[in-house]
Amino acid sequence: MTQAEQYKVQVTDLHKSYGKNEVLTGISLNVKPSEVVCMIGPSGSGKSTFLRCINKLEEANSGQIIVDGYDITDPQTDINKVRENIGMVFQHFNLFPNMSVLDNITLAPIELHKATPEQARKDALHYLELVGLKDKADVRPQTLSGGQKQRVAIARALAMKPDVMLFDEPTSALDPEMVGDVLQVMKDLANDGMTMIVVTHEMGFAKQVADRVVFFHDGKIREQGTPEEIFTNPQHPDTKSFLDKVL
Ligand code: ADP
Ligand code: MG
Repeated sequence: MTQAEQYKVQVTDLHKSYGKNEVLTGISLNVKPSEVVCMIGPSGSGKSTFLRCINKLEEANSGQIIVDGYDITDPQTDINKVRENIGMVFQHFNLFPNMSVLDNITLAPIELHKATPEQARKDALHYLELVGLKDKADVRPQTLSGGQKQRVAIARALAMKPDVMLFDEPTSALDPEMVGDVLQVMKDLANDGMTMIVVTHEMGFAKQVADRVVFFHDGKIREQGTPEEIFTNPQHPDTKSFLDKVL
């Protein structure tokens, strides 16, 4: 097995600064196919910046990031091609308000010639069914609740048939009663074998679904392990004090 096959995402010694503020200070993380990695840690510790570097929404200062075998830190690499295989779901859903739910989902696959309009429509209905919203295909996003919007955003990401899904606090802008449905969709995806990196404050989700929990602190990975190891037997004082606050 080559390294590219062994890992979906390979990050080596990633450094990222904003001006003089170094927010990632040497992050290394390899993610295997079908692995679910949950990233936890205090606000400002660099979790979002890390995710954004993985699809080059932010440019790393140094280090190497290989996704699906493509070195995205190499300026020769066509980042748009690599991005087609990376689904990203944000805290805010960023749906296009002036389009139906269905058109939101079919737009990118059609524009990027990943599917014919007819196939894209079929796929979109399939993914809408997967997230429990097949009956909402023709409505505008503003008629949906936050949780429903987020499930549409997930369906939209899935419509590109990504190899890796990145989630940045997908439930933290939702009313509490909406959180469960979104987490359930993510659990289904994980069970289906999707490779996922999930920044989350939902410790219950991390415990139940993560293969590995990574604790970020001050731009570093302080500690990582199975949910069991991190939640019941954290080793680093920073991990302990963080968990004391959130559990
Ligand atoms: P987290 O997601 O863990 O809360 P972030 O990655 O958002 O952390 O932020 C890490 C640090 O980088 C913070 O100090 C934040 O203020 C800073 N930061 C994030 N984005 C930017 C930006 N676009 N410009 C300048 N500083 C930023
Ligand atoms: Mg963040």
